[in-house]
Amino acid sequence: MTEPAKAKVDMEKLVSLCRRRGFIFPSSEIYGGLSSCWDYGPLGVELKRNIKDAWWRAVVQQRDDMVGLDSSILMHPQTWEASGHVEGFSDPLVECKGCHLRWRSDELEGDRCPECGGELTEPRLFNLMFKTFMGPVEDEAGMVYLRPETAQGMFVNFENILNTTRKRLPFGIAQIGKSFRNEVTTGNFIFRSREFEQMEIEYFVRPGADKQWFDYWVEERVNWYVSLGIKRENLKLHPHAKEELAHYARECSDVNYLFPMGWAELEGIANRGDFDLVQHAASSGKGLSYYDEEAKEHIVPYIIEPSAGVDRTFLALLCDAYDEDEAEGEKRVLLHLHPDLAPIKAAVLPLSRKEHLASFAKEIYADLRQQWMVGYDDAQSIGRRYRRQDEIGTPFCVTADFESLEDKQVTIRERDSLRQIRVPIESLKVTLAAKLGGEDLFVLPEGGKVWKE
Ligand code: ATP
Repeated sequence: MTEPAKAKVDMEKLVSLCRRRGFIFPSSEIYGGLSSCWDYGPLGVELKRNIKDAWWRAVVQQRDDMVGLDSSILMHPQTWEASGHVEGFSDPLVECKGCHLRWRSDELEGDRCPECGGELTEPRLFNLMFKTFMGPVEDEAGMVYLRPETAQGMFVNFENILNTTRKRLPFGIAQIGKSFRNEVTTGNFIFRSREFEQMEIEYFVRPGADKQWFDYWVEERVNWYVSLGIKRENLKLHPHAKEELAHYARECSDVNYLFPMGWAELEGIANRGDFDLVQHAASSGKGLSYYDEEAKEHIVPYIIEPSAGVDRTFLALLCDAYDEDEAEGEKRVLLHLHPDLAPIKAAVLPLSRKEHLASFAKEIYADLRQQWMVGYDDAQSIGRRYRRQDEIGTPFCVTADFESLEDKQVTIRERDSLRQIRVPIESLKVTLAAKLGGEDLFVLPEGGKVWKE
C-alpha cells in the first residue's frame, strides 16, 4: 500500500527548536554527549510532566477500576527469567569484519556493511537488557538488570494490590517510570533512546472477556491522543498478524503516528492472556490467582496491556503542534499545544519597563503564579515577545499598558486566534481559568459571564 501522507515538519526543525528554547539537550553535552541519551530542559520538563499528569488523570484519577504503582527499577533477577527477557529479549546482530560496526540483521538490506561495504559476520543474538551489580562485589551473584519495561513490577505486585485494595475484576494497575534498553539502532531524536520513560497499564479481566476489553482499550487509547489535540488522520492502528505477535501475546495492535521519518509506533496494546501470572506463579511458587466469589473458584485473569512511551508522546505532540504562519505582519513559528500540556500557561508582558508599570505587572505575575506556571518577559518589542511565547506554545499573553494603570484592565491575547480581549484585573484569573479549561468566555467582576463569538 502506498502512503501519500507526510508529516508537515522535519526533524531538524524540531530538534533545533527544542535545543534553542530549552526543551531538550543532548545528555552530558560538555563531554561531547552520550549517544541517544537526552536531558529535558526547563520547558521540556514541564511538557513532560503535563503529559504524565494528563495520562494519570485519564487512566487513574477519573476511573474507579484503576490504581497506581511505583515499583523499583531494580528487581529480583528471577523476574527476568520468568518473563522470558533473559532468554528472548534480543536482537540478531551482525558485525562488519572491516570497520567493526554492528548492525541489526533484520533491518539490513543486502549482505554487505552499509558503512564500508565490508563482509559481515553470521548473526548473533544480543540481549538488550543493561546489567549492573548490587553490593560491593562485582560477580554473577550480585548481578541485576535495569528494567527494560515497567510491566513486570505490576505483575509481581498483583497479589499485594489485590489484598490491599480489594479490587474486583476487571481492574487495572497503572505505572509511569524509566526503562532502559541497550538498543542496537537508536536515533530519530527521542524516538528511540536507551533510557526512556513508559506509561503502562496492566488491566486484569476474566478469561473470555479479554477480546471485548482489548477492543475497548484500543479505542480508549486512540481517543486519549485525540483529546490532547493530536489529529486523528496522523494516527493509524497497526493490528499484528499472527507471525508478528510476541511470544506472550494473543493479539496486539500498535497505535502508529506519522512522525517526520514516517509511520512508527507510539503505543502498543497487547492481550497477554494469562502468560505473565502463570509464569511468575510457577517461578516464585506463589499462587497468583483471583478468587471468584460467585463461581467459588480460583481463576487466573487475562491481562490487557496498553503500553505507551512518554518520550514518543512528547515527540508526536510537538510534531502535531508545530506550525508556521503570519501574525501581526510577521512570520511566526507556533506550537498549538493543548492548554493542559503547554509548559507555560500565560505570560505577563508589561508594555514598558518603567517602574510603576513594572511593579503593577509584577503583582499580576505573582498572583497568577500561585495557580499556574506563568512567564514574565519585559525584554525587546512586544511583537518579539509574542513570537517567543508562540514558539513555546504559551496559550495566552497578558499585556499591561499605561492605560491599565488608570482603568485597571489588561489585555488577554490568544495564541491561536490572535484575538485580543480586555478584561478587568479582578476577572483575569477566572477568565484565564475558564479559557484554559476550554470555555470561550470572559468573566465580569460581578461574576457575570460574557461569551465571545
Ligand atoms: P519498537 O518496536 O519501536 O522498538 P517496542 O515494540 O519494542 O518498540 P514496546 O516494548 O511495546 O516497544 O514498548 C512500549 C512503548 O514503549 C513503545 O510503544 C514506545 O512508546 C516505548 N518505547 C519502547 N522502546 C523505546 C525506546 N528505545 N525509546 C523510547 N521509547 C521506547
